[in-house]
Amino acid sequence: MTLALRLRFGHFIPRLIRAEAIVLYPYVLFAQPRQKISASVLRHELVHVQQVRRLGWFRFYFAYLAEYSRHLWRLRDHFQAYLAISFEAEAYRLQDRLTLEELLPSKEEAHKIAAHFSEVDRLV
Ligand SMILES: [Zn+2]
Repeated sequence: MTLALRLRFGHFIPRLIRAEAIVLYPYVLFAQPRQKISASVLRHELVHVQQVRRLGWFRFYFAYLAEYSRHLWRLRDHFQAYLAISFEAEAYRLQDRLTLEELLPSKEEAHKIAAHFSEVDRLV
């Protein structure tokens, strides 16, 4: 399912869970105002967008929470459990390797997302 992404900045939801950003597909919510979003954080979130699109909304969030719960039980530490989630490992691995055009299904979408940010050249 490929919905048009909706980016929101300075949002309270990621701040509530002390995250920089969160993907609640098709929304990508950032804690910081757009001027402060790094290219890495943007690309990290777009890897999660890819994951949701690959698995579907329900399967992605169900698997994400199941993995987190399992790791939390095992490790007894929120941050370690979060890092151990396979979706996070993939996002951290790819966030500085892929361009927006590689992360998104169309050039059009990549340019639409890049247009939100001032340093377009760095992103696509
Ligand atoms: Zn992540």
